[in-house]
Amino acid sequence: MTNILIVEDERNICEVIKAYLEKEGYNVYTAEDGVEALEIFNQKEIHLIILDLMLPKLSGQEVCTRIRAKSHVPILMLTARVEDDDKIHGLSIGADDYVTKPFSPRVLVSRVKALFRRSYRDSSPLAEKLIFNEGDLEIDMDKMLVKKQGKEIHLTANEFKVLSTLISNPGQVFSREHLIQSAFGHEYEAFDRTVDSYIKNLRQKIEDNSKKPSYILTVYGVGYKFGGTR
Ligand code: CA
Repeated sequence: MTNILIVEDERNICEVIKAYLEKEGYNVYTAEDGVEALEIFNQKEIHLIILDLMLPKLSGQEVCTRIRAKSHVPILMLTARVEDDDKIHGLSIGADDYVTKPFSPRVLVSRVKALFRRSYRDSSPLAEKLIFNEGDLEIDMDKMLVKKQGKEIHLTANEFKVLSTLISNPGQVFSREHLIQSAFGHEYEAFDRTVDSYIKNLRQKIEDNSKKPSYILTVYGVGYKFGGTR
């Protein structure tokens, strides 16, 4: 089930969007103000938010900032006026896209779909929960949870970054340097040996036999790649 949260205090707009999205098979939650929006977001598993900028209690901008502090959930902003467009651009508040009112519901739905495609690999938000080798390895990218044969295993934040980088680019071979840059960014200084130690720890945690890995494969003379199958 793909869950969308609409945050909009104008009832009729909210109802129209809801009806169009439900027709497309989405499960829709609605909130009428910023406070309610945050409550629902904290309680439910929300895959995309349509967020009006002008809201009672807490502005859309504030809601966006608070959600962005802890989540990468795609956010599509609704703005009432052209001036708001500049505001969104200028403040770069972390919305992924925006639509100016008045809009056609059809256009909005197509923007929602496009945002889903951009935000989630394999065009399905459920891809955030990845299962490899017939359930042997399970990874929830959003919650940073990893399970080996159904049992939760603990990875350090850096180990998780290395693993998720490899997984997000299946089949791609990473040199050590490329892996460091992709996982930690350019400002991060690390040595080849650091990567090797992350890889070694990861293999001990997720492989059946760390000497004969099936997930984190060594490509001799080049680097590493992910070898799990979905
Ligand atoms: Ca409003």
